[in-house]
Amino acid sequence: MHSDEKERELKFAADRMLGRLTRWLRLFGYDTYYSPEATPGQIIYIATKENRVLLTRRKKTCELLKTNCFLIKSSKLGKQIKELMDRFDISTDITYARCSLCNSIIKPIEKRFVKSEVPEYTYITHEQFYICSGCHKIYWKGTHQQRAEASLRRFLQDEDT
Ligand SMILES: [Zn+2]
Repeated sequence: MHSDEKERELKFAADRMLGRLTRWLRLFGYDTYYSPEATPGQIIYIATKENRVLLTRRKKTCELLKTNCFLIKSSKLGKQIKELMDRFDISTDITYARCSLCNSIIKPIEKRFVKSEVPEYTYITHEQFYICSGCHKIYWKGTHQQRAEASLRRFLQDEDT
């Protein structure tokens, strides 16, 4: 793994109670499997097969898997992120590497191609755009990133989030 690559080495699979945490891990650039329909057995299978750390709030799931499982104790997003930071030393930089909705890789796209896809003001005031290779959601640097960083700071400070 080269240090200039945004791709992160650690991969996760999160159970259905961890949808919000999943979206944030993807914003941080971590490949995170998540399906609200997946049963604990299916998630264990995927985590094992794809060498992912299984994140769960169910003690039973961790007991079944034994290795490569991390039990998330808190139901609050900020505390969940802190638990992960303590255990895995994860980076909480907001990257443009992975789609927070579908986990696919995000790629730069030429500005002229997104003209009909984004609000006019956004088009005029931004230069760098990205597209998800999976669901084709358009991202842009600037407001997205600033808003995400502000929310993250709030989550990490506020015990009740
Ligand atoms: Zn996507």
